Amino acid sequence: MSDKALRPKIVPGRPSQEEAEEAVRTLLRWAGDNPEREGLIDTPNRVVRSYAEFYSGYTTDAEEELRRTFEETEGYDEMVMLRGISFESHCEHHMVPIIGTAHVAYLPRTRVVGISKLARVVDIFAKRLQTQETMTVQIAQTIDRALQPRGVAVVIDAEHQCMTTRGIHKPGVSTVTSQLLGAFRENPEARREFLAMI
Ligand SMILES: [Zn+2]
Repeated sequence: MSDKALRPKIVPGRPSQEEAEEAVRTLLRWAGDNPEREGLIDTPNRVVRSYAEFYSGYTTDAEEELRRTFEETEGYDEMVMLRGISFESHCEHHMVPIIGTAHVAYLPRTRVVGISKLARVVDIFAKRLQTQETMTVQIAQTIDRALQPRGVAVVIDAEHQCMTTRGIHKPGVSTVTSQLLGAFRENPEARREFLAMI
């Protein structure tokens, strides 16, 4: 994955809050409702504020978050794992929620980070329009670049509401993706240890 794909994207010519609210009013009219009726009058503003939260990951550099906080390991070289990090994202095809959990592990070489920072990296990429496959690779590559560990492993298990609430309507189906780098890819024992722990 290119460096550009991992970096925050700030698109020039970003519409104003007012323009975004007008776009929501257009969709409300398109759905067949009246954006001027009492129950909907504040909806465009609420939707735009929700979007600001759903897509807050575009303005943060995940690699930078990790770089700022690393510490020397003091000799700790065993696996560090954060299991069951819950996240909400949105699929880039339908803009509906992807809800799931991520498991993230690395084998330190010389640097460790505060474990909350790993959860923060998951959130930064989740708060963008995503495919699960892309998000899995982005998290793994960011940790790999920032910490230069001996190995990184990321597994994501998520339900896509574009499959459960529309289209083929298959609730309860989860999608599992994984990205293993370094020792987790090359060394069957490291991989087994990771898989046993999740
Ligand atoms: Zn979708």
